[in-house]
Amino acid sequence: MIHSFYPPQRTLMGPGPSDVSPRVLAAMARPTIGHLDPEFVRMMDEVKQLLQYAFKTRNALTLPVSAPGSAGMEACFVNLVEPGDKVIVCENGVFGGRMRENVERFGGEVISVVDEWGQPVDLEKVRAAFEAHPDVRLLAFIHAETSTGVRSDAASLAAIAREFGALTIMDAVTSLGGIEVDVDGWGIDAVYSGTQKCLSCPPGISPVSFSDRAVQKVQQRRASVPSWFLDKKLVMGYWGEGARRTYHHTAPVNALYALHEALLILQEEGLETAWARHRHHHEALKAGLEAMGLALFVAGPWRLPQLNTVVIPEGVDEARVRSRLLTRHSLEIGAGLGVLQGKVWRIGLMGHACNAHNVLHCLNSLETALIAEGVDLPRGAAAIAASAALAEA
Ligand SMILES: *Cc1c(COP(=O)(O)O)cnc(C)c1O
Repeated sequence: MIHSFYPPQRTLMGPGPSDVSPRVLAAMARPTIGHLDPEFVRMMDEVKQLLQYAFKTRNALTLPVSAPGSAGMEACFVNLVEPGDKVIVCENGVFGGRMRENVERFGGEVISVVDEWGQPVDLEKVRAAFEAHPDVRLLAFIHAETSTGVRSDAASLAAIAREFGALTIMDAVTSLGGIEVDVDGWGIDAVYSGTQKCLSCPPGISPVSFSDRAVQKVQQRRASVPSWFLDKKLVMGYWGEGARRTYHHTAPVNALYALHEALLILQEEGLETAWARHRHHHEALKAGLEAMGLALFVAGPWRLPQLNTVVIPEGVDEARVRSRLLTRHSLEIGAGLGVLQGKVWRIGLMGHACNAHNVLHCLNSLETALIAEGVDLPRGAAAIAASAALAEA
């Protein structure tokens, strides 16, 4: 006998999805209406405005792609890369590697700038790559590398690309809503994000924005875009200025109610306040982790507050710890990816999940789990240190 599915109550402190606010869940449960219904179209105009606010952009082509972050990534590359185009791809973790694969599949020529996992993209290496290949058309990089917990200097990377007349593609899946993202201020040409990280929405939608320069590049393509679904020229019939809102595909109506609500919550809080909240709770988590003798993997200036990579102590069975957190404390944290598998845990403090209760719950649960693993640590020190940090304004 199969029954209705009732998921367990979890606290989601991994690399995404993050906890979803009850307001967003309630929005998602509202009645489905037609995706060309004037009321739905009106709501979608608001989604566009709210996305422009979140990305800090006036780009007319700002829209939610009806598929997860990986599709947003693909939408940028499939539209902007033509066979033979030279693209500098910065690789300092898992997601940079995926960018490289995208360029290769669409016939571009990849010039890789590789940095060690745990380090930000090296600006001097990027400059050297442009100097060695002056005909590069595009620079692609990850703003917040979720596999390592590293932020790269997006403003400087975009400035270098401009200097050499190239467009930029930026992955803001984990950064949007958690740290500063300033698409227009930095001069980013194509950016994509995801709903399930710091926007605290269920997964499955990818906000994307293209600058006028990027739109021009799409319009001047020699060959048509090799993906029908992700072809921005076709999507513009629905989203562009004065568009007729004709049928392209059936929008995921209820998922977009959720995005509308999540973006509204972000706007009500204010971008700067949201970024400060992430920093503040990260400081408390860090104080607690260090008080129990754990070390963060990433150096201070490049740490992402919303994604904390923690070095796994010697002799600890990392999978057993995560499994214990999940089964006994209903708490999810992330494992290491790629070369960091078995070396780090990834503790997310994203969006709705970034709060004082979760910081303390995580530290206390981790302390219990580590003691069970035989780690000798000062009991209670983490909660004391974190509480002190939380009390600081
Ligand atoms: C999660 C993530 C993605 C992929 O998003 P999905 O929604 O899982 O497809 C891409 N880039 C980064 C940096 C991410 O953290």
